[in-house]
Amino acid sequence: MTGASLVVTDLRVEFSGFVAVGGVSFDAHPGEVRFLIGPNGAGKTTCIDAVTGLTKATGSARLGETELLGKQVHKIVRLGIGRTFQTASVFDELTVLQNLDIAAGLHRRSVSLLRARRGIDPSIERALEETGLTGELTTPAGVLSHGQKQWLEIAMLLVQDAKVLLLDEPVAGMSQDERTATGELLQRIAARRIVLVVEHDMDFMRRFATRVTVLHQGRVLSQGTVAEVQADPQVQEVYLGT
Ligand code: ADP
Repeated sequence: MTGASLVVTDLRVEFSGFVAVGGVSFDAHPGEVRFLIGPNGAGKTTCIDAVTGLTKATGSARLGETELLGKQVHKIVRLGIGRTFQTASVFDELTVLQNLDIAAGLHRRSVSLLRARRGIDPSIERALEETGLTGELTTPAGVLSHGQKQWLEIAMLLVQDAKVLLLDEPVAGMSQDERTATGELLQRIAARRIVLVVEHDMDFMRRFATRVTVLHQGRVLSQGTVAEVQADPQVQEVYLGT
């Protein structure tokens, strides 16, 4: 698999002297569905906030040769880093297609590629197919199921040509079927991209993770395959055993 890897080294974030992330290192490669897990307050969201420029951090987060830390949010987005939040942020009153058109328009402007279009943009068609939303083209986003809204958000990142997708608890509140569909979607899109998932759901992690980093109190407690992490007594003690 070709493509740049995301390499995070000695990431540190402090809030008024409180160390939320105290020297975290991990990497993620194209083709992976990489999981960041850990109890509430472990520093997972702060890590992805730092990588996306929302929170000031020290250390390093590189996509290939490019350092992300210290760059402005919009520049990081332009480099192909996309993220979702725990609550889907789609435009409820607009259709699926209109939501994707907005996302595609933002991307086009950012790469100065304005052109007259007829019909549906091929990047939108691909994103609809990849996320299974082709049949919902004219559905207002507000009436989509919770799962479909999350998939629309992922589709919006795909039309923006995100190379790295950072997903914050993508299956929270989903039905079992929606979780399975989401896991399969993540495996499909990871074939050509980096997918990093922050998650609480252990069952979902066991089924779909390639590698896992377990955070605890702002530090890496354990790192490896699902089997390695599960067998780690420290992890069992602080997390999986609960
Ligand atoms: P997780 O995503 O693993 O649940 P977070 O990254 O949200 O954990 O939070 C890690 C720690 O940092 C928590 O103790 C949280 O209260 C604290 N924290 C997060 N954001 C801020 C902030 N903006 N100001 C102060 N403390 C924060």
